[in-house]
Amino acid sequence: MRLNIGGMTSFTTIDFPGHLAAVVFLQGCAWRCPYCHNPHLLKVDEAADDWEMLRAFLEPRRGFLDGVVLSGGEPLLQSGLAEAIASIKEMGFKVALHTAGANPQRLEQHLPMLDWVGFDVKTSFENYSQITGIAGSGDKVKESLALLLASGVDYEVRTTVDPNFFTIDSVLELAETLADLGVTHYALQECRAVEGHDVDRTSLSIDGVIREKMNMMFPDFTLRYN
Ligand code: SF4
Repeated sequence: MRLNIGGMTSFTTIDFPGHLAAVVFLQGCAWRCPYCHNPHLLKVDEAADDWEMLRAFLEPRRGFLDGVVLSGGEPLLQSGLAEAIASIKEMGFKVALHTAGANPQRLEQHLPMLDWVGFDVKTSFENYSQITGIAGSGDKVKESLALLLASGVDYEVRTTVDPNFFTIDSVLELAETLADLGVTHYALQECRAVEGHDVDRTSLSIDGVIREKMNMMFPDFTLRYN
């Protein structure tokens, strides 16, 4: 099966809530967000087949780990993903997916197999191309989000607050849009600078008034500091 692995974390307690899990970083993403922390994962390699490596990693961890998080890059680009998820579940692990929602059809195909989804919403759907560099990307994300919410699969929607793209008002406006769409589990995360992309956190504090309003808008709200 085509599965291209760019890296792994042996265990985490934060990437799949309530579970002790390994994280598998899958190679490839079509977007180019300026604050991407995994630029080495963006290139796609169609020929890679790393399933046996992953199977060998997971085999001795049966009974120790609860789950496996498929992260990226964008995991839904992997043509072998469904087969890999089925095999991981057969081994007794639960499976979580981290996705940016670029491909609604691929998300819809995989949703019934998933136990949890971490879903990025980068900015208002109209302004997406400012961050991803891809025209129309916000429409795809909106469609993916609707599919996720209708699926009944557990999830967290999260937004990385880059002060280069957000003001307090635009954070609140996005949150209102998401709450209106039916999002109940939401997280805001601080943005870290990466090489070639400075982040002046002093220009936008995501605590204080934002935390108060978010707690009123979402039954489950998390503020995540990096
Ligand atoms: S969608 Fe995620 S992996 Fe792709 S460029 Fe943006 S931050 Fe990086």
